[in-house]
Amino acid sequence: MGTQTDTARVKLPDGSMREFAVGVTVAEVAGSIGPGLARAAIAAKVDGRVVDLSCRLHGEVDLAILTGDDANADSLSVIRHSAAHVMAEAIGIVIPEVELVYGPPIDNGFYYDLALPEQRPLRTEDFDAIEAEMFRIIAEDRPFTRYEMAIDAGMAKLQAEGNKYKLDNARRAAGDGCDCLSWYATGVPKQDWEDLCRGPHLPSTGRIGACKILSLASCYWHGDASSDQLTRVYGTAFAAKKSLSKYLTQLEQARQRDHRVIGKQLQLFHIDEEVGQGLILWTPNGAVIRRELEEFIRGELRKQDYQFVYTPHIGKLDLYKTSGHFPYYRESQYPPMIEADGMQALAKEGCSCAELSNRLKGGDVHGYLLKPMNCPHHIKIFASQPHSYRDLPVRLAEFGTVYRWEQSGEIGGMTRVRGFTQDDAHLFCTEAQLAQEVHGCLELVKIIFSTLQMEDYRVRVGVRDSGESSKYVGSAENWDKAEQACRDAASGLGVPFVEEAGEAAFYGPKIDFVVHDVLDREWQLGTIQVDYNLPERFDLSYIGSDNQSHRPVMIHRAPFGSMERFVGVLIEHFAGAFPLWLAPEQVRVLPISEKYNRYAQQLHEQLKGAGLRVTVDDADDKIGAKIRRGRLNHVPYMAVVGEKEQTAGAVAVNRAGTNLGALAAGEFIAALKQEVDLRQPRKKNNK
Ligand SMILES: [Zn+2]
Ligand SMILES: [Zn+2]
Repeated sequence: MGTQTDTARVKLPDGSMREFAVGVTVAEVAGSIGPGLARAAIAAKVDGRVVDLSCRLHGEVDLAILTGDDANADSLSVIRHSAAHVMAEAIGIVIPEVELVYGPPIDNGFYYDLALPEQRPLRTEDFDAIEAEMFRIIAEDRPFTRYEMAIDAGMAKLQAEGNKYKLDNARRAAGDGCDCLSWYATGVPKQDWEDLCRGPHLPSTGRIGACKILSLASCYWHGDASSDQLTRVYGTAFAAKKSLSKYLTQLEQARQRDHRVIGKQLQLFHIDEEVGQGLILWTPNGAVIRRELEEFIRGELRKQDYQFVYTPHIGKLDLYKTSGHFPYYRESQYPPMIEADGMQALAKEGCSCAELSNRLKGGDVHGYLLKPMNCPHHIKIFASQPHSYRDLPVRLAEFGTVYRWEQSGEIGGMTRVRGFTQDDAHLFCTEAQLAQEVHGCLELVKIIFSTLQMEDYRVRVGVRDSGESSKYVGSAENWDKAEQACRDAASGLGVPFVEEAGEAAFYGPKIDFVVHDVLDREWQLGTIQVDYNLPERFDLSYIGSDNQSHRPVMIHRAPFGSMERFVGVLIEHFAGAFPLWLAPEQVRVLPISEKYNRYAQQLHEQLKGAGLRVTVDDADDKIGAKIRRGRLNHVPYMAVVGEKEQTAGAVAVNRAGTNLGALAAGEFIAALKQEVDLRQPRKKNNK
């Protein structure tokens, strides 16, 4: 049975099969299914590739018609690429000297890179004029029309036009094996605006339901700092206006919740150029949050019979050669440190700077590393004494600070840093105990996330990428066992999980918790890794009930991941309004006038004595101003005191701006202490 050449056999997503004359267009197929679909269609997926509606079909194909659906990434990408063309044309009208470089769709929109004359840069003040032109082009509902030219003829056309960037794009396309060059005209070819482009595009500009120019950035041609400096214009587009307004609201909320902004406003942390980029200084308010989180974790770990250890910030390079962190992580580490004696010896040998640099890179020196991970230190603690099966599992925990080299461009706030503290632990157990121990780790992560009201998460089991075996250490047999243990534990969790190839660590598979935040973003936080390999590399053993020596299995786990990143995410999660147990300042006493300062001070002592974090605002201000200030600082409770309260030994309670009435001072303190001890979520404004 061969494919008939005079028909196109089209398999639709519902599994049905239809036959058409060969060369039928996607639009015609959509029309044959129904006039509604024909009207809604914007593009199609043919055998997994997104194409124009004008694409002609041959042979047997899988076909899915794409409609203007803002929940469909393929549809969005076609809409956004089309909007990028419209924006580029509009910019050319506002700034005729512009040279177009490259304009692809991206995750949340699209951008276009432009070369602009020095005397006429693009400014945000130009956005309105450009958008007005875009809306006009969209209202004209011009068709996107594709035409093709042979490579040579196409190159000649581009040469004549003289845009070196487009010529470069065309050379790349030819190098990628394209057999022709294609253009998309917005309207009539060789008459209306056009762009060298592979497509696909919408049938016409009128199908762009909503679009907006968002921001400007500068960038370099090919991302190369020694090359031409370009202007990147970001925008976004959707099929529906309401999708755009929802997205813009989210952007604004993200801006308001940005942990760098709130961190500064509430004085939670500081980054100082002189200390170094990506190195977080925890200021007193942020340190309170970190300490409370650490105490919370310690309490949970004590319940699970963990033991606490402390280890230094550096270790010998040889240690990390044994563990494999060097060279596997070499690219993301600070280079090794060499002691002064060692340096002098190298100098005597006549070691040049270039040679030293090579030796550092190759690890061919006696030196120390800032620790990129805590595992080797914990392993050495385990190995420091003999173990019998009766001792296992051994669970060693430490808030251990590690250092990684991140490119400076990647660093921002607390979520990407060069030094960070993991809520780390390593469990050493028998193979028979493994499933139980992984389960315990998963339970711990669940408790933590539910206490912090981060219950919208998914679970990902990261396994090997079978195509890249050189990336991983250890035997295939051990990997199989470890991957199976992770799968089993994840399926017992009662939360859906997906398995992803290539997401494993170099020494073993892992289970990641990916938290979904209020702004629809995802953060990879807690992680649990099963490891058969490091116990082997360090030759760890225990004596089994059979009196023979056996190899333990190791689990690495960090529910928060890193304190820095986690607190950064928490700041945005709570938008600065932390639950009472985490709030740096829990209560603020507000005397309504100077007359009550003394009573306010008494209350201050009482609250402090009960272990609460309290301040008094005795500034010479109206009470309304004091309350506003307290709200601005996200203080959970304010205790207002005047004549009535002083006489009764009471406080007027204000929670996040809402009056809750008077309470005797003792009752107020007891209620607060209970809220703290139970780590209750922050109560809403309404009573
Ligand atoms: Zn294009
Ligand atoms: Zn580890």
